[in-house]
Amino acid sequence: MIVVDNILISDEIAEKKFVCDLAKCKGGCCEDGDAGAPLTDEELDLVLAYFEKIKSYMNQASLNVVEKKGKYEYHKEFGWVTPTNPDDKELCVYGFRDEKGIIKCAFEQAYYDGIIPWKKPISCHLFPIIEYPGKKGMPHRLNYEAREKLCNPACALGKKLEVPVYEFLKEPLERRFGKDFYKALAKAATMHNKPEKQHVK
Ligand code: SF4
Ligand code: SF4
Repeated sequence: MIVVDNILISDEIAEKKFVCDLAKCKGGCCEDGDAGAPLTDEELDLVLAYFEKIKSYMNQASLNVVEKKGKYEYHKEFGWVTPTNPDDKELCVYGFRDEKGIIKCAFEQAYYDGIIPWKKPISCHLFPIIEYPGKKGMPHRLNYEAREKLCNPACALGKKLEVPVYEFLKEPLERRFGKDFYKALAKAATMHNKPEKQHVK
C-alpha cells in the first residue's frame, strides 16, 4: 500500500501496466456496468449547464431515456449516476458509437471540439482507478479495478509500452488531486517498484 496525503493507494496502481486500447475494447466501460457513471454533487450542475450544448452528440434513444429518467439519477449503492439505456446494453446516455463502433463520450467530444470547458465526470476520467471517499473515520482510498476481460487488451498494451497505471492516468490524477499529489505519487511508486537491494556478503 502506498500512502500520499493520507490517501491509501493500492500497490497495483504503481505496479500494473495499462494503456487503453480502444480499437480492441471499443470503449466498453461506458456500457454494461452495474450503473451509470458516478457524479459528484458539483458535477450535477455541470451536466445541467452543458446538456443543451452536448445533446446534438447523443443518439435519439438516449435522448428518449433522458426524457423519461432525467439527466442523472440516484442509485442506492452508488449515489448520483448518469442514466443508462436498458434497451442498448445499459449504454450511458452520454455515450455514442462512432463509425468503427467505438463508444465515445458526448461531453468529451464537445470538449475536444471547443464547445464546453469540461471533459467528462472525474469518475470516468480516473477509471480504472476507483475512488472511495473516506467515511466514518475510514481513510480515503484509490483502488485499481479494471474490468475483467474487457480491459485485458489495455493491460497487454501497457506491458508492451511499459506504462504503469498511475502514469497513464496522470492527467485525471492531477485534475482530481493536484500536481503536487501526482509528483509525490510518482516518486513513491518509483521507490515501490525498485527491486530490493541485494545483500552482499
Ligand atoms: S478502461 Fe478498459 S474498457 Fe474502458 S476504455 Fe480503457 S481499456 Fe477500454
Ligand atoms: S459520461 Fe461519458 S465517459 Fe462517462 S460513462 Fe458516460 S459516456 Fe462514458
